[in-house]
Amino acid sequence: MKASAFSYARAGSVANALELLVACGDKAKVLSGGQSLMAAMNLRLISPELVVDIGGIAELHGIAVSSGVLRIGALTCHADLQKSPEVAAHAPLLTEAIAHVAHPAIRNRGTIGGSLAHADPASELPACVVALNATIVIVGPNGERRVAAEEFFKGIYETALSAQELLIAVEVPVENGNSRHFFHEFARRHGDYAIAGLATQAVVDGNVFADLRMAFFAVGDRPVLAHAANGLVNVVITPAVLSQASAALAQELDPQPDQQASASMRRHLAKVLMARCVAALLPRHDLAAGQSR
Ligand code: FAD
Repeated sequence: MKASAFSYARAGSVANALELLVACGDKAKVLSGGQSLMAAMNLRLISPELVVDIGGIAELHGIAVSSGVLRIGALTCHADLQKSPEVAAHAPLLTEAIAHVAHPAIRNRGTIGGSLAHADPASELPACVVALNATIVIVGPNGERRVAAEEFFKGIYETALSAQELLIAVEVPVENGNSRHFFHEFARRHGDYAIAGLATQAVVDGNVFADLRMAFFAVGDRPVLAHAANGLVNVVITPAVLSQASAALAQELDPQPDQQASASMRRHLAKVLMARCVAALLPRHDLAAGQSR
């Protein structure tokens, strides 16, 4: 199948892109890497009248660290994110997660801004930015606004962005010395969308979690920052504590079944991920005995 006829405009600047979007009402779509947009257009799931290509806007590229914040431009492609020494040093969760996003050809074109704006609940990067407590930077006709990642994702393919707004950057607080991360997903094949996944950012103090942000993906209509993880903070984690948190997690999640897995299978995998995450981040903790070694 081919896309319906559409007009194409290449924006020269953010201001120019906004003018084009405003002029077209909700009939325009932004084009970044095109890895999700073009497929949706070719399948005629969407048929925009105008495609606004922002790929040439230099100010949307680049990765910089300043005043304790790692700022990633919206047009940073997955491959550049994966290679970035700044990302590896300050947000290694992203470096690890990117390896699970599709394949090299797609990672060379797909962008972080496109991935977040697309908001596929099975995507890796939305969960990572929620776990990292990142801020999404948006510009629109009324200027700039900033939205906590946790508030940005509203549902399947739905975000806080309006049709006249652009996602311009993601800002991530840089890690401190006690930060730890965990990333794992279950997928049929490496590079496929996940059946269930977990991105975690934690602060470890001795042998307990001082902070624990567990963002599950592919188990709801958006990344889920698990409240159940609060039961694992500032306590010695015994099997009983973990079992209680795990039961709370199963209650909290509302996964949808599809051809890949049932809802109960997804709930089960999420509980497995929680246990693996705790074991990986508190390696000196012997859960079987409930004692610190
Ligand atoms: P585009 O396709 O250009 O845009 C996607 C959507 O976001 C469109 O609605 C567009 O209008 C909007 N948009 C884009 N940029 C902006 C912006 N700056 N501001 C506002 N709106 C914007 N992704 C995964 O996470 N995990 C996977 O395992 C995975 N596997 C894939 C396998 C295949 C075969 C393919 C084709 C894609 C896969 N993807 C996967 C998707 C890929 O990561 C895409 O790159 C990503 O979802 C979208 O990025 P993009 O830059 O290509 O965005």
